[in-house]
Amino acid sequence: MNAAAATRVEPPLALLAELTHRCPLRCPYCSNPLELLRASAELDTGTWARVFSEAAALGVLQVHFSGGEPLVRRDLTELVAHAAKAGLYVNLITSGIGLDAGRLAQLVEAGLEHVQLSFQDSDPTVGDRVAGLAGAQQIKRKAAALVCAAGLPLTINAVVHRHNLERLENIIDLAVALGAERLEIAHVQYYGWGLANRAALLPSREQLDKATATVEAARARFTGRLVIDYVVPDYYARRPKACMGGWGRRFLNVSPSGKVLPCHAAETLPGLRFPTVAEASLSEIWYHSEGFDRFRGTEWMPEPCRSCERREIDWGGCRCQAFALTGDGARTDPACALSPDHFLLAAAQAEATAELPEFIYRQHSNAPLTARPPVLQSG
Ligand code: SF4
Ligand code: SF4
Repeated sequence: MNAAAATRVEPPLALLAELTHRCPLRCPYCSNPLELLRASAELDTGTWARVFSEAAALGVLQVHFSGGEPLVRRDLTELVAHAAKAGLYVNLITSGIGLDAGRLAQLVEAGLEHVQLSFQDSDPTVGDRVAGLAGAQQIKRKAAALVCAAGLPLTINAVVHRHNLERLENIIDLAVALGAERLEIAHVQYYGWGLANRAALLPSREQLDKATATVEAARARFTGRLVIDYVVPDYYARRPKACMGGWGRRFLNVSPSGKVLPCHAAETLPGLRFPTVAEASLSEIWYHSEGFDRFRGTEWMPEPCRSCERREIDWGGCRCQAFALTGDGARTDPACALSPDHFLLAAAQAEATAELPEFIYRQHSNAPLTARPPVLQSG
């Protein structure tokens, strides 16, 4: 019996629509793959419209427009209109670069209901350096004001790491000052560009503990005013997170080229084939594709997961992290202290107190990855 047959498969709740890998920023922890897709290979408007209809028919409730930077798509308003017409709740995840009052009014008119705006830091100098774009912070502040003025609920996304954790309290205060209803503080996830920059980004245990206390205090301070979600780094965990709520259980992701994935990093796993939206419907792919079935449920699990009481709580952790650390996506996530590979995290933790390397900035290039000085582009 395959995994899908052994597990009752529910419809997905949400679709992450990765419209593009293009982005005016160059964050060194970007979750996009190291090989960035060129604009000419992106799905066109009509195909995305069909995908939104298929998603709604499949039972998806929300679509998160993401990238790269979704605002670089000239047809974004049209795409929002298609998704809203299909009955999906539409959320825009954006850097804010490229948003102005006119564009936002069009998006709202088309059916946009929520905005998640990323901030790299509370300090504009460091924020611009991490983003790789001079003046980015100033543009983001204006974007936040526009979203609030339009009456849309605003979530601030803050990815935290070694360079900004000491200002976490200021980042929380900034979210309140900007009028956010929700703040998502997420430690860097170490795959893609985050893995390439791990030594420059992974905080020390001491920094992490301080950050956790800061979040707890802020939650008490801003009760009823700001909801704070907090995603801790797996590298200091004793048990892993249920990555994506379990492989192929809650979410699906469509990449800029149309590949349908259980999570945005799943393409890094070798030996798995993920069909594109041109090859099959979302429903066929969700219920009947080898890629989605491979790690669904518990049948695929090795020991110690197979006989563990948490196997239907964390679903064995993250497949992409298991592959990134061990070279085998079918092993227990090394973030789990019960994993025979847990020792691998010790070497990474040692990097967190070593000398800081330069960032490797994301780039559209086939050139080998090299550390480059943080040259700022003009804004
Ligand atoms: S993480 Fe930074 S570079 Fe990557 S898509 Fe988001 S804003 Fe752009
Ligand atoms: S052994 Fe597997 S199922 Fe058990 S806690 Fe660790 S990762 Fe989760």
